Amino acid sequence: MDLVFKALEVLRGRPLCDRCLGRFFARFGYGWSNLDRGSAIKRVIVMYYHWRVRSGDKGALEEFLPLAPNIGVEASGLYRLLTGADLEVKPCSLCGGSLEGFLDNAATSVAGLLRVYGVRRFIVGARVDEGILRVEEDIALKHSLDGWESIKNEVKREVGKRVEALGFTADFTSPEAMVIVEFPSGELEIIVNSLILAGRYWKRGRLVSQAYWPSFGGVKYYSIEEALTPLLRLAEGESVILHAAGREDVDARMLGTGRPALVEVKAPRVRELDLSQVEKAIEEASKGLVAFKFEGYANRGMVKVYKEEAAVKSKVYKALIAVRGGVEAGDLARLEENLKGATIMQRTPLRISRRKKDIMRAKKVYEVKCRALGGPFIECLIKASGGLYVKELISGDNGRTRPSFTETLGKEAACLELDVLLVTPIS
Ligand SMILES: [Zn+2]
Repeated sequence: MDLVFKALEVLRGRPLCDRCLGRFFARFGYGWSNLDRGSAIKRVIVMYYHWRVRSGDKGALEEFLPLAPNIGVEASGLYRLLTGADLEVKPCSLCGGSLEGFLDNAATSVAGLLRVYGVRRFIVGARVDEGILRVEEDIALKHSLDGWESIKNEVKREVGKRVEALGFTADFTSPEAMVIVEFPSGELEIIVNSLILAGRYWKRGRLVSQAYWPSFGGVKYYSIEEALTPLLRLAEGESVILHAAGREDVDARMLGTGRPALVEVKAPRVRELDLSQVEKAIEEASKGLVAFKFEGYANRGMVKVYKEEAAVKSKVYKALIAVRGGVEAGDLARLEENLKGATIMQRTPLRISRRKKDIMRAKKVYEVKCRALGGPFIECLIKASGGLYVKELISGDNGRTRPSFTETLGKEAACLELDVLLVTPIS
C-alpha cells in the first residue's frame, strides 16, 4: 500500500486531477488509462479516511477536510456526509483541469488538418509548456516516484488514439505527416512528408536538361523538372524534385525503355492522384518532349538508391558518328570486335574537368553494333556500364579515354548525336 500513501503525500501538497495523479503511477497496472489509475487511487484514499472516521479516529476528520478539495469529486460524497456542506473542488495544479477536454479537442483539430492535406497515415508529436514539465519533474523527484510518465508522452499517445478512432492510421515507420500538438495553447503544426512516385521518363527531344536550369539571360534549357509542373499543380505541392538513376547529357535524348526515376513532391495537399491523368498532363504541357510512366508510390529510403549513377548497371546508347576521311571495308567489324567486352580506362573528360575532380575510372563496353550510313557517317549501338562517358569513348578525348573509336580506327571519330535507349538499374 506504499503506493497509496505516496499518492496521499502528493495530494496533501497540491490538487491534481485524476489524469495528472494517475500519470505519476503510469507503470503500475496494465491496460488502464492514467485517468483510471488516478480515480482508483483517490477512491481508496477516501475509503481509508471513511474507515478511520468510523473507527472513532479523532484525527481522521481533521486530516480529511483540508485534503478533500485537492482530491476532487471522488471526495465530495463523504465530505457532504461528514460536514453537511458541498465540497469546493480545487482545479488541478498541473493542467488547471483542462487536459481531458484538451485531448478531445486536439484530436478533432488534428483530424481536420490531416483531411486538408489528404493524409491517412500520421504520427503525433507534443510540445508542453516548460513550467508544467518542470513542476511535474519536481513532484516525481520530491516523492521519489519512479513509475511516472511525462505529460508530453501522454498527450502524444492519447491524442494519437483519439485521432485513430476518427478513422486515421497511426504509422510510426513511414507516416505521411507528423502533427505537433502544443499544450496548453492548443496550437498545431503539421510537417507533411513528400509524396514520392516511382516511374520512368522519356526525353524525345534534345537540349532538355534534367534539373531545372537557372539562368541570368544566358542559355536556358527546358528541363524534365519543368515538365513535371502539372504534377506539382495536381498534387498541390510546394516544389518537385527529380531523382533519376543517372542522367543523359543535355543534348542526348532518352528513348527506348525510358530512364527509371523517382519524383518527389514536397508538402503535397493531395496524395491520391490519378496517375494516368498526371502522365497525360505532363505530355501535353511539354508538347510531347517529355513523357512519364508512373508505376506507383515509393518511400524515402529508395531515393538514395536512385540518385547514385553507380546504381545503373548498364545502358544502351545509339550514337550518330562522323569519321574523318570516311569508313572503309573492315572498319566497322574492327570496332565491333576490338571494343566487345573491352575495359575502358577513362579520365574525367576535359569538357567537365572544371567542375569534377580529375580521376581515372575503369568502365566496361559490353557490345558495339555499327552500320554505315554513307559518306563519313555511321550509326552505332553501344552497350556499356553505367557512368561511362560515351562521347569520349568515341572521340578518345585527346587520349584521356583508351581505347576509343578514334584509337581503334586510327581516324578521328566524333559523336554528333547521342540517344539513350535502355537503362538497367541494379536491383
Ligand atoms: Zn490535471
